[in-house]
Amino acid sequence: MSEPDLAQRLANVRGGIADAARLAGRSVDDITTVVVTKFQPVSLIRELLELGVRDLGESRHQEAQAKAAELAGAGIRWHFVGQVQGKKARQVRAYSSVIHSVDRESLVTGLATPVAEHTGAVEAGAEVDCFVQVNLTEDPARGGVSIPDLAPLVERVLSAPGLRLLGLMAVAPLGAEPKRSFALVSELGAQMRGIAPDARYLSMGMSQDYAAAIAEGATHLRIGTAITGNRPAAVNLKTS
Ligand SMILES: *Cc1c(COP(=O)(O)O)cnc(C)c1O
Repeated sequence: MSEPDLAQRLANVRGGIADAARLAGRSVDDITTVVVTKFQPVSLIRELLELGVRDLGESRHQEAQAKAAELAGAGIRWHFVGQVQGKKARQVRAYSSVIHSVDRESLVTGLATPVAEHTGAVEAGAEVDCFVQVNLTEDPARGGVSIPDLAPLVERVLSAPGLRLLGLMAVAPLGAEPKRSFALVSELGAQMRGIAPDARYLSMGMSQDYAAAIAEGATHLRIGTAITGNRPAAVNLKTS
């Protein structure tokens, strides 16, 4: 038997998503699959485009920016899922349709649309969608806001011009039962809707745990290797 190719892996994952949705009594139409292509060459992204994929995820700014420039006009919605450096915030915003990793107040300031000096009006260029990332571990290096700091950060995003809050994003911690982690995120999302009624989306679930995430209400899955195959080393990204 030969290795499954990209189309087969994509079909397998789509089948897995459909199965998990059916089990959860949910519609697949309510679930967006973001294919995470970090470290993958532009040639693989072109294959994904041929297969009908339009939602792509990247986690490193320079790589994402270069790919977005090279693939401009292809109708891609870029989802930024990695940690955003404060001084790169405006650049990340420029090519992203959705930023999944808003995790601190200083970043909200960097991402917010500047207000015109004289009129006080919000600059044209509309809003960027974003998730607030919650850290489910004790390790700040993992990214995400700690649970006690979540509500103030949500308030801050709600009052920032040019940002539309979709909901919460999280990564299930290694070694924990993913279903319990995702249930917690879902519960935090429900609490958050007390102050942000429209923020009803949940970005959670990756290659290994997307079925559990769907069971707990995920609306945005971020799936890399199960679709793309293993990631190449970080060298030689220019293979388009
Ligand atoms: C890389 C990455 C993913 C995808 O991980 P896979 O295990 O390859 O599916 C999802 N979310 C984030 C934040 C990532 O950095």
